[in-house]
Amino acid sequence: MITLPKLNYNYGDLEPYIDALTMEIHHTKHHQSYIDKANTAIEKIPEIANLDPKEIITKLDLTPENLRQVLINNLGGHLNHDLFWQIMTPGGTPPSPKIVEIINGNFGEMENFIEKFSETAINRFGSGWAWLVVNPDLSLEIMSTANQDSPLMQNKTPILGLDVWEHAYYLRYQNRRPEYIKNWWNVVNWQTVEKLYNLAVANKN
Ligand code: MN
Repeated sequence: MITLPKLNYNYGDLEPYIDALTMEIHHTKHHQSYIDKANTAIEKIPEIANLDPKEIITKLDLTPENLRQVLINNLGGHLNHDLFWQIMTPGGTPPSPKIVEIINGNFGEMENFIEKFSETAINRFGSGWAWLVVNPDLSLEIMSTANQDSPLMQNKTPILGLDVWEHAYYLRYQNRRPEYIKNWWNVVNWQTVEKLYNLAVANKN
């Protein structure tokens, strides 16, 4: 059974960039709903019930076809949000020289990376996510997924993710997605991004 992960900060702590009410609804209603629906589906598939959720999402071919899309939407929704909460922190944390070097090596420089990632998030049509992922060859890539599709489904490990569903920003920003994206960088927890990068590398070795 998947349970709602606790946040390491309070709902109002990401103000003024993300408002308290949005955080509370996003966590207790949206994320909880993905979890409930994922649990209901997983309960029907005893063969995978004991697997780690991250493993299930990479092994959807083991699941009955009629439940696959439910798992993509809801187990994906759970995994995406679980990461999203972790890569944010009040006031943000600056990237270390190590992660700056890695970003520079892949994207030229930090500024370019932020611009390209932001554009990817702005240009996601409809609902979805922008991601920084680690590829199987350990290169980094900026990508986007629709709806709640997880990069893990493509064997890519997300280490930074931005939710651009309207439910993530509508109360404060209405239709102004670019403004939400610009402000979001102020709460990015680069320390966690680096930790996730190191984990991804360790798991490949
Ligand atoms: Mn969301």
